[in-house]
Amino acid sequence: MKKIAVIGAGTMGNGIAHVFAMKGYAVNLIDVSESALDKAIATISKNLDRMIAKGKLEESGRAETLGRITSMTSIASGVTDRDLIVEAATENPDLKRKIFQEMDAHAPAHAILATNTSSISITWIAAATNRPDQVIGMHFMNPVPVMKLVEVIRGYATSDDVSSRIMSLSEGLGKIPVEVNDYPGFVANRILMPMINEAIETLFEGVGGVDEIDQVMKLGMAHPMGPLQLADFIGLDVCLSIMKVLHDGFGRPKYAPCPLLVNMVAAGKLGIKSGEGFYRYDPVTREKEVAPFFKR
Ligand code: NAD
Repeated sequence: MKKIAVIGAGTMGNGIAHVFAMKGYAVNLIDVSESALDKAIATISKNLDRMIAKGKLEESGRAETLGRITSMTSIASGVTDRDLIVEAATENPDLKRKIFQEMDAHAPAHAILATNTSSISITWIAAATNRPDQVIGMHFMNPVPVMKLVEVIRGYATSDDVSSRIMSLSEGLGKIPVEVNDYPGFVANRILMPMINEAIETLFEGVGGVDEIDQVMKLGMAHPMGPLQLADFIGLDVCLSIMKVLHDGFGRPKYAPCPLLVNMVAAGKLGIKSGEGFYRYDPVTREKEVAPFFKR
């Protein structure tokens, strides 16, 4: 597998393209939005500069890596000669099924179709294609160039061969793959997201303020980042989508998204990507302070 496509050039898509291109893969980076593609290339370039400054990449590595990435807006023409396609578009079940149907219609028969979904059923996405045995979850962590884990999720029909090829490919990317089964949220978000939702409930009920909740979890549990800051980092829209998948998938009240999270997404307060969530971020320095809403 040498030719890959990444669908969706947002937070995760640009990181996935970065990692594959650095390892010598030819990457077609596909998004419906031209501005998302421009932003992705600028982000990859900035992150490569950071790696060069830290001595983790030769100076020549920037041009070589960027030279392997081709941005485009059409799935149909971007996947025809690809060996592996990694979908990292918006966390929306119907959108993912639609994209997988399009990938299936235009990708070569041997191609593996992977999704970076945080929580949506691989089995259900695979059922939209004519090759469910070649569909798999490849759940990278944010930020992709830094985080070691790839949660590899086997759908009901995923073949042994496809699973073992994705496990070794992930190792080749310098990652540590862990194979899990296909139930809502898999392992990572089944455990992480209810904790984040509970932190938001704790804020909602006034048990503690934004800083207090994050401090308790950072200092008391040795988490590198508090749960509210982490929610801002992930994106509150992504957090809400994952809670809805857990709630729908298990039908248990404990997975109901906190009304405060629902309201913040409705208000467009999505965290770092919109400039404000639980914290407000300086657009240049990214310095954070508690958002005005939580100082009232
Ligand atoms: P994002 O909102 O930053 O980016 C999504 C991108 O998908 C946007 O650029 C959008 O224009 C594009 N898109 C939408 N419809 C499209 C289509 N039809 N064809 C091509 N591109 C399309 O989202 P993100 O945070 O990068 O999340 C992407 C996926 O990765 C989601 O499934 C999410 O659950 C998962 N994920 C996110 C994180 C995280 O921390 N943000 C971590 C792991 C996995």
